[in-house]
Amino acid sequence: MLAGIFFIWEDYLMKNYLKGALLLGSLFIVGCSSLVEKKEQANIIIKNGTLLTMNEKREIIENGVIVIKNNKIISVGNEDLLKKYSATKIIDAEDGIIMPGMINTHTHVSMTVFRSLADDVPDRLNRYIFPLENQMVSPEMSYIGAKHGAMEMALGGVTTMVDMYLFEESAAQAVKEVGLRGIMTQNIIKYPTADGKEKGETLNRAVAFVEKYKNDELITPGFGPHGPHTVTKEELLKIKELSKKYNVPVSMHVAETDGEFDRIKKEYKMTPVEYLDSVGLLNERFIAAHNIFITDSDIELMKKRDVGIAHNMVANIKSAKGISPALKMHDKGMRVGLGTDGPMSGNTLDIIGQMGYVAKLHKLDTKDRSALPPKKAVEMATIGGARAIHRENELGSLEVGKLADIVIVETKSVNMNPIYDPYSALVYSANASNVDTVIVNGKLIVEDKQIKTVDSKKVIKDITDFKEKVQKVAETL
Ligand SMILES: [Zn+2]
Repeated sequence: MLAGIFFIWEDYLMKNYLKGALLLGSLFIVGCSSLVEKKEQANIIIKNGTLLTMNEKREIIENGVIVIKNNKIISVGNEDLLKKYSATKIIDAEDGIIMPGMINTHTHVSMTVFRSLADDVPDRLNRYIFPLENQMVSPEMSYIGAKHGAMEMALGGVTTMVDMYLFEESAAQAVKEVGLRGIMTQNIIKYPTADGKEKGETLNRAVAFVEKYKNDELITPGFGPHGPHTVTKEELLKIKELSKKYNVPVSMHVAETDGEFDRIKKEYKMTPVEYLDSVGLLNERFIAAHNIFITDSDIELMKKRDVGIAHNMVANIKSAKGISPALKMHDKGMRVGLGTDGPMSGNTLDIIGQMGYVAKLHKLDTKDRSALPPKKAVEMATIGGARAIHRENELGSLEVGKLADIVIVETKSVNMNPIYDPYSALVYSANASNVDTVIVNGKLIVEDKQIKTVDSKKVIKDITDFKEKVQKVAETL
């Protein structure tokens, strides 16, 4: 009897236990699913890398995670973020270096078409480049060269470029198709060119270009006066007004050659920098490229006017023009970024290579091994470049709220190992082919070292086909 009661009691408990367990189980499932639901949905998460933030404190996060939603960075931190966010695309950096996209602050990307042609010819600009350009440059050439060059930059981890060339509209189209960010400036020059036979034509072309692209998400159009001695004062004054009216950048070669310095000095009794200031061009919209022949007072003037500086070390030394005091400018807190110049001048388009040269040559120049440590070179390539284009609030570091322009440099390749210091590895060990992943404006454009936005074989075929036409003209020069 007692046993019977016990069994009935036990049966009752068991049933209720099962009910309870079922209830608890379902509560657990509901709880878990609500936890899952609580994860904020993002587009891309990058995890498992050494994250160089390049923020104010230059923080480095081991096992770093960065979260991207639409075109912005919404969170930066360590693995804990993986509990908080989910994403449609998770990228495992596989112990690589996650860094801000690099900024090429001066180039003529379409000139990729002419790369390796007539290198080291004396007085190359006047004797060779200008005559060649007059015969060969066309919208087609500008497009083909820009597409190839932009693809090369993307594969090398450059996410933003500052460009100046002829038929800039065609170059901008190509850069957009590759998916890079471009500050594209239409070249303005006083001589007849392929895109401006009549006086004032290149300036009119620039205005039309600015009008067309002024609201573009990736392309920032601007004015590209060629140099202080190659543009009339009358046009420089107009450019000053127009850049103010449209609030767009001006990129220009400044104090690049001794010939330019002498001509401006003779004509205006001023240095090129003083002359440009007298015209009213030096301001926060101005990006000065090269800056080799400048005095200490020029440096002070440029600092006061808050201009951006594009330091093109490789192109400058290849043409034996000289060494820009860009390091001095950087150490004075000026806005110094790195540039490659056009591929007919510097031959390369990646910024990783520039970092190595810049770090080493300034040491030699100053006879001071501590003058330019690798961290400073990485600063110039990223946040320095963003400052040079006055976009440091949006670009140049991996911080919440900034635009998602991000690069992963893989560390598996033989040349990258071992790594004790990620800055040293980037500046002294890495090359462009170590770049594995590139995101621009929240969009994945390079994955596993492959460009995703364009057909790379076709891009290379187009430029090699065009070479035949160039070769025929080049033989006549
Ligand atoms: Zn240039």
